Amino acid sequence: MKVITQTQISQYEGCKYSYYLRYVKNLVWPIEPGESQNIRKGDDFHLLVRQLILGFPPDSLIIPGKNADLWRWLEVYCARKPLGKPDRVFAEKEVSVLYADVLWLGKFDALTVNDDQLVIYDWKTGSAIPDEKKYRESPQTKLYRFLARSCASRLIGAGMHAIPAENIEMVYWFPEHPDKTVHLPYSEEEYQQDMTWIKTRAREMTFEEESDYPRTENVRHCRFCDYRTFCFTGSAPVFMDEDIPETSEVDDIWQEGLFSPEFFADDEQEVVNF
Ligand code: SF4
Repeated sequence: MKVITQTQISQYEGCKYSYYLRYVKNLVWPIEPGESQNIRKGDDFHLLVRQLILGFPPDSLIIPGKNADLWRWLEVYCARKPLGKPDRVFAEKEVSVLYADVLWLGKFDALTVNDDQLVIYDWKTGSAIPDEKKYRESPQTKLYRFLARSCASRLIGAGMHAIPAENIEMVYWFPEHPDKTVHLPYSEEEYQQDMTWIKTRAREMTFEEESDYPRTENVRHCRFCDYRTFCFTGSAPVFMDEDIPETSEVDDIWQEGLFSPEFFADDEQEVVNF
């Protein structure tokens, strides 16, 4: 059975050909050391917040490499307390839904429950100024709110009692911009639209032929793609000065998770079939 995550959808939407190479042909290309450091710092912050949610005192946490950014982000998190005081909170909650013959996976950085209200939290560690419109339209928002709505009754422990989409919200929180938190409430109308969108992705992302996955025409994506040496081997210079993104755009590319994989622990997923 085909398994799809938000990282795969983001990669598909960034460049269909890179998705084809990575997830249809299973061609894993090595990434450069500088890029893996960017990913690791974000991962370290997620791990530290997970430990805080599990009850570790802040002064007991070990900051990898005594990284100054991690120190600062952690201080901001502890001062701002973005989760508030929920009835229940889950760290790195993994959820799966079987829909349109595809198993859709999501991992919420944090999930809070208050009565029958659910809030999905996602930490974004880039430095770019948050763009609410971009987050509202992102594949991650569509998939994660769809997953939460589909599993809401179980997540809350409401049995067969249906939880409406209006009881669900997705929140993006930025340690670099704690005053610019993005709140995205959900609705049944958006849920219906997301089901249609996900069904379309299920069809498009399970094609087998290379011709179904054209290369992006936006070479800014190529600049930070693992496959650039594969795609442009032996060709003339590909990236002109004007193709080099501003620092904030680079942050955006990493924030979108276009080229950074998600890891799931197989034994913690909650699966809903429908
Ligand atoms: S280098 Fe560019 S065209 Fe090639 S897979 Fe990456 S994003 Fe797509």
